[in-house]
Amino acid sequence: MADIHSNLAAFQSVLGDVAVRGGVAEIWCLGDVVGYGPDPGQCIELLGQYEHVCVAGNHDWAAINKLDTAYFNPPAAAACHWTAQQLTDEDRDYLAHLPLTIKKGDFTLVHGSPREPIWEYLLSVGEAEENRARFKTKFCLVGHSHVPLVFKYSEGSRCSLSPLSDGEEVVLGEARLIINPGGVGQPRDGDPRASYAIYDEETRMVTLHRVAYDIKATQKKMIKQGLPMPLVTRLSYGM
Ligand code: ZN
Repeated sequence: MADIHSNLAAFQSVLGDVAVRGGVAEIWCLGDVVGYGPDPGQCIELLGQYEHVCVAGNHDWAAINKLDTAYFNPPAAAACHWTAQQLTDEDRDYLAHLPLTIKKGDFTLVHGSPREPIWEYLLSVGEAEENRARFKTKFCLVGHSHVPLVFKYSEGSRCSLSPLSDGEEVVLGEARLIINPGGVGQPRDGDPRASYAIYDEETRMVTLHRVAYDIKATQKKMIKQGLPMPLVTRLSYGM
C-alpha cells in the first residue's frame, strides 16, 4: 500500500478489508504515511502495530524538515507545516529512519521511481522506459502518483501501461513489471475509495482492491484542524 497520508479512516478501512480477506504476513508500505490528512501520529502508530516495512516518501521527509517545502504547492506546504507540529519525537524518529529503497525477494520497493525514489512520478511509458535499467529485481512497486497502474516491460519493444481497477489481478510471469497499488489516503484516479493491493506468493498474483471509507469523517477532522479546503474537497472526488 502507498500514500496513507494521515487519513486514519481510510487506513482503518483498508486494514479491515485486509483482515476480511484473511490477513497478510507483512505490510509493504510505499511511503507518504503522513501529509495532507488529519491523523499523522495515529497513522504512524497504527502502521507500527503491524509487521511491516516502509520506504520514505516526499511528505515523510518534508514533515521532518529533511526536504524543503518550497517544492510543494501551497496547500501541500501548509498541510506539511501543520503535520510537523503534530509529530512526537518518536514519530520524527520513525520517519527519519525510513530507507529510500527496500528489496523484498523479486521486488524493489520505492515511493516515486527507482531512479528518483523521492520525487519522480511514474505516469507515462516514457518515464517507465527511462527507469527500465534503474532497478535490478524483476518487479518494482511504487506509489507517489496515487494512481493504480501497471507498466509491463517486454524485450525489444516499448513497455505498456495499463490502469488497474477494483478486483483486477496482475499475474507475475516472465515480464518485468512496475506496479502502483494506488493511494490509500488520497486517491487521484477519479475513484474516491481507498486503493491497495494484496500479493499472493503462492498464486504469484497481485490483486487490486478498492475500499469505501468514511470520507466525511476525515473531512470533518481536516476542517476542524484548519487544513486547506482544496485538500478537503478533493477527497470527495478522488482527484
Ligand atoms: Zn503521496
